[in-house]
This record gives sequence, structure tokens and C-alpha cells, in this order.
Amino acid sequence: MLAEPVLLMGLIETCRATIAANSEHLCALDRAIGDGDHGTNMRRGCEAVSAEDASVSALPLPDALEKIGLTLVMNIGGAAGPLYGTLLMEMGRELRAPGEKRDFPSALKQAINAVARRGRSHVGDKTLLDVLYPVQDALAHRLPLTDIARQAELAAELTAAMRAMRGRASYLGDRSIGHVDPGASSCALLTAAICRYLEE
Ligand code: ADP
Ligand code: MG
Ligand code: MG
Repeated sequence: MLAEPVLLMGLIETCRATIAANSEHLCALDRAIGDGDHGTNMRRGCEAVSAEDASVSALPLPDALEKIGLTLVMNIGGAAGPLYGTLLMEMGRELRAPGEKRDFPSALKQAINAVARRGRSHVGDKTLLDVLYPVQDALAHRLPLTDIARQAELAAELTAAMRAMRGRASYLGDRSIGHVDPGASSCALLTAAICRYLEE
């Protein structure tokens, strides 16, 4: 299984540009309930992936996803690095799983479960998982790309009403309520950007 190199390079660039354009916004969200670095962290991670886009895009898709995940772990840092990294690495592993042909939604589901285990977090804890679960659900129900993008954006907005149970924001307890989770926001931005790109 070969990744369509041009498509993957386009997706990498779309993600990089989206995070670069929203980096300050993500930092502002993180200043409200964390330490203010989420935009900077994500930007560093995406730029590192961009720097190796040609070599990564030449790999079979599972290998490419694993490599991107590893780069994200090493370069995003913080709490989000290992979580986004796990998502991509597990996607790669799932899509490679021998003997069975995994479809994309079920691979994503397994990868999201791995992120939840890694973060010891659940739905409603006010994290990026509160975007990932609805996105996976929308994908499994074969919703159109525009609807998936909208679901992701809506899901990120809904984290404002939640009380943070994991990560730095959890130190604030009830004071975390009323603010959108930065990780949920980056996840929605990336999902929407990917959906828009794939639709063109
Ligand atoms: P840090 O908190 O180390 O500065 P970031 O600011 O880059 O890391 O990322 C913060 C985001 O990571 C949060 O908004 C949240 O979405 C996510 N996050 C933090 N801890 C967890 C966890 N245990 N499980 C799932 N997501 C988490
Ligand atoms: Mg932070
Ligand atoms: Mg930090």
C-alpha cells in the first residue's frame, strides 16, 4: 500500500499552514487554562513534519503515519506531543496489521482508544478526545466531509462547558469551565482543514 505522495504532501502542508495561522489563537486558549504554549508546541511539531515531507510521503502509508507520529512526539513536546504522536503511530500500526484489511474508520477508532489509554482520559474530560470521538463517529456513519468538519468545530466549542479532568487545565477545577480546550481546538482546526483539502 503506497501513500499517494502528492496527496500526503498536500495534507502535511495544509496542516502546517492551518496551525501556523492559528498558533496565536491556540496559545491564547492555553493561556486561559494552561501555560500558554499549545500553539507554539503544535507549530514546532508541524514544522518538523513539513521539513521531512518529501521522504515521509515516499513511504507506504502505514510507515508514513508512524514516522509522522514519531516526529510529532519528539517535536510537539508537552502533554499534546505523546497524544498526537500516539494517534498517528497507532493509525500506522493498525493499517499495517497483518492478515486483516483494516478500513480507515476502524483504524482511527483503535488509534483514538490508544490515545485515551495513554492520557488515562475519557469522553467529557475536556481534551482533544472530545473532538476525536465525534469525528470518528461521523466518519463511521459516512457523513460528508463538510459535515465532519462542522462536527469537529462544534465538538471543540462544546468543551467550553466541560470541567477539565486531565492535564494542566484540571488544576483549575471549576475555573476551567467557560473556556474552550486548546487541544480540542487544534484537533478541530486540523480536522476541518483536512476535510476541506480532501473535498477539493
Ligand atoms: P502542556 O499542557 O504540557 O503545556 P499543550 O499545551 O501542548 O501541553 O497541550 C495541552 C492539551 O493537551 C490540552 O488542551 C488537552 O487537550 C490535551 N491533554 C492534556 N493532558 C491530556 C490527557 N491526559 N489526556 C488527553 N488529552 C490531554
Ligand atoms: Mg500548554
Ligand atoms: Mg507546556
